[in-house]
Amino acid sequence: MEENKETNKTVIVTGGSRGIGAEIVKLLAKEKYNIVLNYNKSESQAKQIQENLLQENIKIEIFRADVSKREEVKKLIKFTLEKFKTIDVLINNAGITSEKLFTETTDEEWNTMINTNLNSVFYCSQEALKEMINKKQGCIINISSIWGVTGGSCEVAYSVAKAGINGLTKALAKEVGLSNIRVNAIAPGIIETEMNSHLSSKEKNEIKEEIPLNKIGMPIDIAKCVKWLIEDEYTTGQIISINGGWYI
Ligand code: NAP
Repeated sequence: MEENKETNKTVIVTGGSRGIGAEIVKLLAKEKYNIVLNYNKSESQAKQIQENLLQENIKIEIFRADVSKREEVKKLIKFTLEKFKTIDVLINNAGITSEKLFTETTDEEWNTMINTNLNSVFYCSQEALKEMINKKQGCIINISSIWGVTGGSCEVAYSVAKAGINGLTKALAKEVGLSNIRVNAIAPGIIETEMNSHLSSKEKNEIKEEIPLNKIGMPIDIAKCVKWLIEDEYTTGQIISINGGWYI
């Protein structure tokens, strides 16, 4: 098959099977990026997205890997290099959430949260950077959260993981800037995905009332920022809040 001429760039999207990640995949597909969609449990969704995009002549591969595990991340990176020979952009999007009182959070729940939401970013970035540093070019975008900036009640472990991502983003941006690699994070407010399916419409309306733009965000709001961050050349080390003004 012919390479995609328009950008000829390869992007990995972790957790690309649903929600924000799936929307990022679809938007970048329009820009003709070569895409590796990572998923863990949602194989049928991943296959459906791939099938749809293949019909539009997008070069898209899907790969199952639990990004909370170093060995599986290594396989994801190896697969990407075998398929597309390069990694230009890494979107660390995969994440989980859970609401629990801090005093009731078990070690296992804490570790799962940190492994999935923070260590995954460590593993994926470190493995992808080997290729990016060789090439002296790259772009890493981490999907953080408003709670990583402000802290979220009953979401201490999640907030810690996302705050960790913010620290990693700033420090790593300084470390790899000379290699022409940009590292940024996006901190969404509340976005309409399955992650918030536990909220009732009443609860969503109450949150909406607190948001100056008076609406819940959509995955496309985050995807558009990802696209902009990839194209931009002078932004690094930033945590970009996209939250309708919920936290300013
Ligand atoms: P979502 O709809 O629940 O989707 C989560 C995605 O992450 C799925 O594709 C899932 O893949 C993947 N994932 C989870 N654990 C994984 C693992 N161990 N390995 C690989 N993939 C894994 O959530 P979302 O709302 O799109 O969230 C995406 C990101 O945005 C997360 O990092 C989240 O913390 C962040 N965020 C979301 C909101 C919001 O309001 N929605 C707000 C702030 C930040 P499988 O289904 O294939 O397992």
